[in-house]
Amino acid sequence: AFLSKPVASMGTEETYIMVKPDGVHRCLVGEIISRFEKKGFLLKGLKLFQCPKDLAQEHYKDLKEKSFYPSLIDYITSGPVVCMAWEGAGVVASARKLIGATNPLQAEPGTIRGDLAVQTGRNVVHGSDSPENGKREIALWFKEGELCQWVPAQAPWLIE
Ligand code: UDP
Ligand code: MG
Repeated sequence: AFLSKPVASMGTEETYIMVKPDGVHRCLVGEIISRFEKKGFLLKGLKLFQCPKDLAQEHYKDLKEKSFYPSLIDYITSGPVVCMAWEGAGVVASARKLIGATNPLQAEPGTIRGDLAVQTGRNVVHGSDSPENGKREIALWFKEGELCQWVPAQAPWLIE
C-alpha cells in the first residue's frame, strides 16, 4: 500500500516528449532526459527511433496547411529521434514550461529551448500540448508492450 499510493497520484496524466534529430546529432539526449528525470516525473517509455514519413505526417497533421510543414516533416525524419512517455499530475503543462517557447530566442533561460537552441526550425524537443494529445501521441509512437508500469524507488520522496 505504501508503494502503490504514489502510482495512483502520478497516474493522472501523460505526455509525449521527443528529442528531435538535431538534439540527437548535437549529443543533447542525456541532458534533455535528465531535466525530466530530475524534475520527478515518471518515465514510462523510451526508445531511439527512425521516424517514417507517414508517422511524422500523422503526428503533425494539424499543421498540414502551414508553409513550414514540408520542411518540418523533412526535419523530423532526417535522423533518429528519442521517444519518451512521461507520467505525472500536471505533466503536460509542466513539461511545456521545462521545454520553453516554440521559438528558442523567445524561450526563457533555464528552459531546454532557451538554453540549447537558436531557431524555431531546430528547437531540439517536442512536448504534447494537451492531455488528450499526450494520450494520442503516446499511442501513435509506442506499441503495446513498449511502456512500463513501475514504481520508482524514490516515489515516496516525491509524493506525500
Ligand atoms: N515550426 C516551424 N516553424 C514555425 C512554427 C513551428 O518550423 O513557424 C516547427 C517547430 O519545430 C515546432 C513544430 O513545428 O516545434 C510544431 O509547431 P508548434 O506550433 O506545435 O510548436 P511546439 O508545440 O513544438 O512548441
Ligand atoms: Mg505543438
